[in-house]
Amino acid sequence: MRHFGEIDFLMVKYKISNQVARKILTSCGTFDEAVDKLEQEKSKYTSFDSEFGDMSGGAQMVNHSLKAKSSIMLESKGKNLQTMANNYNLATSLEEGKKSHSEPKILPKSYTVHSSPAAKITKWIEVPIRELVDFCRYEVKHNKVNPKDFICPICRMDFYDDMLSLSDKEIDKLNTEMITKTLSIDVVMLSKCNKHFYHKSCVEQMVKYGSSVKCAICNTIYGILCGDMPKGTMNYTTINSPCKGYEGCGTIMIEYYFPSGKTNGEWYDGTQRTAYLPDNKEGREVLKLLKIAFDRKLLFTVGTSVTTGAQNSVVWNGVHHKTSLSGGATAHGYPDLTYLTRVKEELAAKGVFSE
Ligand SMILES: [Zn+2]
Ligand SMILES: [Zn+2]
Repeated sequence: MRHFGEIDFLMVKYKISNQVARKILTSCGTFDEAVDKLEQEKSKYTSFDSEFGDMSGGAQMVNHSLKAKSSIMLESKGKNLQTMANNYNLATSLEEGKKSHSEPKILPKSYTVHSSPAAKITKWIEVPIRELVDFCRYEVKHNKVNPKDFICPICRMDFYDDMLSLSDKEIDKLNTEMITKTLSIDVVMLSKCNKHFYHKSCVEQMVKYGSSVKCAICNTIYGILCGDMPKGTMNYTTINSPCKGYEGCGTIMIEYYFPSGKTNGEWYDGTQRTAYLPDNKEGREVLKLLKIAFDRKLLFTVGTSVTTGAQNSVVWNGVHHKTSLSGGATAHGYPDLTYLTRVKEELAAKGVFSE
């Protein structure tokens, strides 16, 4: 016989139906195991909407009324159940904090909505104050991180004001307000990063200036990174003369052309560049990546020329090219056996990869 509250708790916390909650509880044996299973395989168990949406015909009608019933039930019980769910979160997080030998876990929240552009791109994980404090304490203790360095990498400010000088009681009070949504959760962890935290508003600011977010700590790119390259063209053709060191094949000759123009009200000088790749499998792969990078406006920018010192000129933007068939690395030419590998790394750093 199941404790009534356990089923309700799982229904609310994971947005699953009574039947699903029952099934998982029965198959897992204990409540804690059921929570673990749901925590790990959350996406497998659908929310009310999708679950009932998948049903067909008559079953759907029956289930619509079930759904209505469930939502009325949930609404009326909502407050108590939400408190239960939150108490559970709080208890888990307190437990995690005490177990200082194991790194505190930062788990995705069932209540996070990913509707803002920044949330959509980064699939961020909200981090209420208790989790963040526990994590920070752990880092300070075990990895000897200076608490002063535990700040938002963008604005260089505290995550939560004076977070580390608050008492545990104050932290728990704020945390409860955050997970019951009476206080906003302002800190997020980027989903693909290893515990890199930011203010929500700071990530949102980044997205305002483009369609991507680049982690300031590990350079992981979320979304598609686009540059500020001015208008120009990229054309390529094959020639017979080989690149030195690649005598077995011909050469791909790439021609970039940027006319002079105006950006942000200022004139800049255009440029014309020719670059070479061996016409073999790897060279053609690099050509494909360069084409993608060009389309994303990543290959050139307007700046000061390293070679001539001229300001407001169209210049290379961190992706090296070979402008000579010979002469070696010092002459920006071939042979240079690691060039193709290096240029692929440079492109990857801008989010351009081979599939
Ligand atoms: Zn910030
Ligand atoms: Zn990162």
